[in-house]
Amino acid sequence: MSEPLIELRNISKRFGGVRALDDVSISIRPGEIHCLAGENGSGKSTIIKVMSGIYQPDEGEIIIDGTPVTQLDPIQAVQKGVQVIYQDFSLFGNLTVAENLALNTYILEGRSRMDWRRARQMARDVLERLGVRIDIDADVETLPTSGKQIVAIARAILAEARLIVMDEPTTALTRHEVDALFDIVRDLQSHGIAVLFVSHKMREMLEISERLTVFRNGRKVAEGDMRDFDEASITHAMTGLELNDE
Ligand code: ADP
Ligand code: MG
Repeated sequence: MSEPLIELRNISKRFGGVRALDDVSISIRPGEIHCLAGENGSGKSTIIKVMSGIYQPDEGEIIIDGTPVTQLDPIQAVQKGVQVIYQDFSLFGNLTVAENLALNTYILEGRSRMDWRRARQMARDVLERLGVRIDIDADVETLPTSGKQIVAIARAILAEARLIVMDEPTTALTRHEVDALFDIVRDLQSHGIAVLFVSHKMREMLEISERLTVFRNGRKVAEGDMRDFDEASITHAMTGLELNDE
């Protein structure tokens, strides 16, 4: 079995009196589609922020490619290939698709001048690779949610992501758009990119994920291969309640 790409061990995080994470561990392997499931408030977004260097944990260890990382910061996380797509996508709405995609590469490469021809070609290429038709000259704010999401994924690919974390990515999507997103997720996987799919939607996690980690009240309550779970066992893990099958 391959070494985990990233491993979080025994992580705890408190906000005042709230124990958002209590001794949780999760590991993501290269190229896997991993679901992090849990009800609202179970700590999913908090662990993502720890993984991406936004929050420092009170306790615990982060190991990337087998090496412990002390004080992971957001730039380091990106350099190590960890990219998070937040629910608001963090795009510049009043810039075009090409500008959004170029800006990121420009910042990452520390260039002093923008090569627009090259930037536009890279934007076209990455969108074509994702099999989507998006006008690179459209302002991002004019795109539907699914379009913004694709631009955010494209940006992560251009930043050489090895793990793309998607925090509740299907919230504002139609069923058709969810199908399209899942095609993209499978395509990312075929290119060796791992996806951490954060969700509380049963059908979707069963459909797309290979491995599962379940949080409840800031604690890890289940993990394993998706094929060892079903709706009842996941519901039980997420809520602590038995599922009534009437
Ligand atoms: P989820 O993403 O699973 O819905 P979160 O990780 O956002 O859960 O939140 C876990 C718990 O931590 C919740 O009780 C939430 O209110 C609390 N929490 C999260 N972020 C903060 C914060 N910045 N300040 C205070 N409490 C927070
Ligand atoms: Mg959340």
